[in-house]
Amino acid sequence: MNKLDYCFHSHTARCGHAYGRDEEYVQVAIEGGFSAMGFSDHAMFPFLKQPGMRGSFGLIKDYVASVRDLQRKYAQDIDIRLGFEAEWIGKGRSSYFEELYRDFGFDYFILGHHMWFDEDGCGWFASLPRKEALKKYADDVIEALGSGYFLYLAHPDLFMSWPGADFGPLEKEAAGRIVDAAVVFDVPLELNMGYSRYGEMVKYGNVTTYRYPFLPFWDIAKEKGAKVVIGVDAHAPRDYLESDFRYFEGIVNVKVSPPFCPIFKGQRDKHIMGRPN
Ligand SMILES: [Zn+2]
Ligand SMILES: [Zn+2]
Repeated sequence: MNKLDYCFHSHTARCGHAYGRDEEYVQVAIEGGFSAMGFSDHAMFPFLKQPGMRGSFGLIKDYVASVRDLQRKYAQDIDIRLGFEAEWIGKGRSSYFEELYRDFGFDYFILGHHMWFDEDGCGWFASLPRKEALKKYADDVIEALGSGYFLYLAHPDLFMSWPGADFGPLEKEAAGRIVDAAVVFDVPLELNMGYSRYGEMVKYGNVTTYRYPFLPFWDIAKEKGAKVVIGVDAHAPRDYLESDFRYFEGIVNVKVSPPFCPIFKGQRDKHIMGRPN
């Protein structure tokens, strides 16, 4: 049974690896009993073309207009918000998020740190030596959490899906640092349902787990008292109904601090464009 009634993590076909029309996502979310949803397609950046990963910046007006149209059309049925899932592109470029709030009226961003960025470009963490990759991932995520731009951190345990991942001392250290920062900056961590739809489970000690959510990571989150939210990470409308909610319920039973619904508050308040509640 689907006990989730919100999802702020949904993509659109513009990113090049998601399917369906925007309206179908809304219709299926309503069918699934969701009362709130957010479109958070992979962030479109004016300085980066990355076909198959994210839409080109030229698509942003269409994206915004489509979400606004759906907000109007389905206002009686569901609360729809406009967002991006974005990497931390560094302090030097972070004014881009201000521009998105100001120029396009974005409601929120979630941090999904799939790649590293610097002045010269960007790259995949898996292309770096493991120690360096884990340190950089944690450093970047922590800086981003402190920026106040992000509603929550998507798949904080993403590093467990990199090739050759083990949950050794380096991973435990990265996990501890990320969770500590989430607690200090009061940013929820997301149990991400994406991998549960396409990834195989792995054995870790006597635990069988997806690469993410990676159960030992969530033991740390539980221990340290991090806030937790759920993200479907929908890449097709049916994902709202077909995610492995039973698995997430198993995790929820062990922990998960209420409320599940992301709280728009603090520094983020001034950015949220205040659609009346
Ligand atoms: Zn992601
Ligand atoms: Zn995503």
